[in-house]
Amino acid sequence: MHAVWQYYRTLKDAEGHLVKYKNDRTHNATWCLACFNRKVESIEMSERNRYLLDPLTVVRDRKAIESDVYSSVNPVAGKIDDLLHHLSECEKANPTIQAWAHRELNLRKGKENWAPTAPYSILDTISGTPIVLGNTPKRPRLSGSFDDLDVSTVHNGQPFPPNLQKEFNADVCEVFIANGWAWNGAANPVWMNFIQKWIPSAERPSPYTLSGPVLNGKVAEIEE
Ligand SMILES: [Zn+2]
Repeated sequence: MHAVWQYYRTLKDAEGHLVKYKNDRTHNATWCLACFNRKVESIEMSERNRYLLDPLTVVRDRKAIESDVYSSVNPVAGKIDDLLHHLSECEKANPTIQAWAHRELNLRKGKENWAPTAPYSILDTISGTPIVLGNTPKRPRLSGSFDDLDVSTVHNGQPFPPNLQKEFNADVCEVFIANGWAWNGAANPVWMNFIQKWIPSAERPSPYTLSGPVLNGKVAEIEE
């Protein structure tokens, strides 16, 4: 299941069937959690305030308010692209999640070679002067370098089996933690090129995978 689903909720009708999106027979109606919860909170708050002024009014419990909110917040069609699209523009969503959705959407559109919009700079730690790199940093190619190698002699060309991929993800997670790198770094084009070039059999774990499932797995390991 795509990670975007965790940011949405669905609704079941009286018979226990998931409610469909408008006249769409295949896609479920979904509600953005950020939009939904914000609405519930604002209603709850106004009912409480009203109660303070007039104790005869009723403050409904959360469940009762929620059942009203389904009709006052516009649903999104339960298609991954639509879910990502809303999230990438949702003003109520956390900016990190918003940025993640934006990137995921671009990846799905095939813009694999995601590049930062502005040239980025790194500080030369020796001289202290910033080195400005273009969007596609290049270094001189050494003769007899990787490009002349037959990749299949290094890797058998097959994707990692699940166990190895899992171990790889866990190790990448450890590298990020040890270096204090932001999870977003996993979507950085330089990093992605590095993995693709040197470890082509590995699937590149996304920032979400690293900071969610992989990290949780590591925490669980420690707690065992
Ligand atoms: Zn939203």
